[in-house]
Amino acid sequence: MEEIFIQSEDQRAILESVRRFVEQEVTPRAAALDADPDPAAGFSWEIVEAADALGLRTMTLSEELGGMGVDSLTTAMVVEELGRGDLGVSVIFAQTLKIAAIMEKALTEDQKARSLVPFVDDPRAILSIAITEPENASNYIIPYATSFNTRAEKTDGGWIANGMKHFISNSNRARFFLVFMQTDVSKPMAEGASCFLLERDHPGFTVGRVHDKMGERLANNSELIFTDCFIPDENLVGEVHNGLKTLGEFFPSSNSYAGASILGVAVACYEKALDWAQTRIQGGKPLIEHDGIRAQVAEMKMLIDASRSYIHRAAWLADHQEHGWDPTLGALPKVMASQAAWKIATWTLEIHGGHGYMKEAGVEKLLRDAAAFLHSDGVNRTLLLRAANFMEW
Ligand SMILES: Cc1cc2nc3c(=O)[nH]c(=O)nc-3n(C[C@H](O)[C@H](O)[C@H](O)COP(=O)(O)OP(=O)(O)OC[C@H]3O[C@@H](n4cnc5c(N)ncnc54)[C@H](O)[C@@H]3O)c2cc1C
Repeated sequence: MEEIFIQSEDQRAILESVRRFVEQEVTPRAAALDADPDPAAGFSWEIVEAADALGLRTMTLSEELGGMGVDSLTTAMVVEELGRGDLGVSVIFAQTLKIAAIMEKALTEDQKARSLVPFVDDPRAILSIAITEPENASNYIIPYATSFNTRAEKTDGGWIANGMKHFISNSNRARFFLVFMQTDVSKPMAEGASCFLLERDHPGFTVGRVHDKMGERLANNSELIFTDCFIPDENLVGEVHNGLKTLGEFFPSSNSYAGASILGVAVACYEKALDWAQTRIQGGKPLIEHDGIRAQVAEMKMLIDASRSYIHRAAWLADHQEHGWDPTLGALPKVMASQAAWKIATWTLEIHGGHGYMKEAGVEKLLRDAAAFLHSDGVNRTLLLRAANFMEW
């Protein structure tokens, strides 16, 4: 499928090199990594290092900081291309690329020197953002007037943090983290939570259980635990008590990257379904020559094209808000793309008939992966409600 809306030769060159990277480094490893029953073992440092060699790991940072200054639209295209190879790999980099861009905008010069400089120099450095905790998830996405249970209390020269986060992408592998904690318990999280910068192995900050996920297994997710963890004042990011606002302002394209990751899975399903429909013969002719199947393939294409247009519009407007940014674009493209991916994955299974149910066909991996973004980056129903709250009627 070649209909990605490329606007410049730079984009074309970047996407071609990402496509080669996927073919050479991701596709040959993905099925075996996915099949490992150890929830942490799907992750591959070889893939991260190969991505680093390409400049992919740091591409959203400015050239001044050692990146490529790639914009949100191009990043969304890259993230989709990665998702076409493997969803977990796409998530590792979608998170890292987005968090690096947030850090460049939100950190002080001193904080950048302590984090982004070592991040650029370390080929294995990936990034993680921790907001969700066992009791608070849709609560912060809508958001409701509740508080985070992970709390940081003010003390001399810093904060003492206690609590835990869970489900956090990259968190057992990341070198740097942005973590959201309640710093004013008298206020709801929208006005009383702050964001902190932490490095792995910071005293009092440990990784808990790695979650055993049904899909997206090449990325790891884990718990993060804070036990009387002293965080110095110098690690506060942005304004105190205003962490969630900082996040929204500094990273409007987050939702479109999530949509692009899962759109990549939809494209992989489409390609697999089409390939099968062209080779499998029933009724004396390939499936694709049967009208019911042809119409279904056209519907898959329509859902992919429409989701991609929505994602591209949101990603471009995130960087050019003066041309008509609308806050629902920060919630809805992922909902559309993940619904499309789920439909397309189940239709891919159907087009493969009984063969699709057999693991060797590779459809079941795509189906498990396709389920991931019905909930990641906000449950779809919750995001629809968030968008409704932005709308006026
Ligand atoms: C693979 C994966 C990766 C993730 N990565 C990260 C990460 O890197 N960082 C991070 O911070 N978090 C991460 N998350 C967490 C993710 O954002 C949350 O799982 C998500 O927000 C949903 O939270 P929950 O699972 O606790 O569901 P809940 O909030 O408990 O929701 C349960 C159900 O209730 C519904 N619901 C809730 N409130 C309402 C309402 N008001 N009206 C109607 N229905 C409602 C929801 O739509 C949902 O169907 C990740 C999750 C997954 C699965």
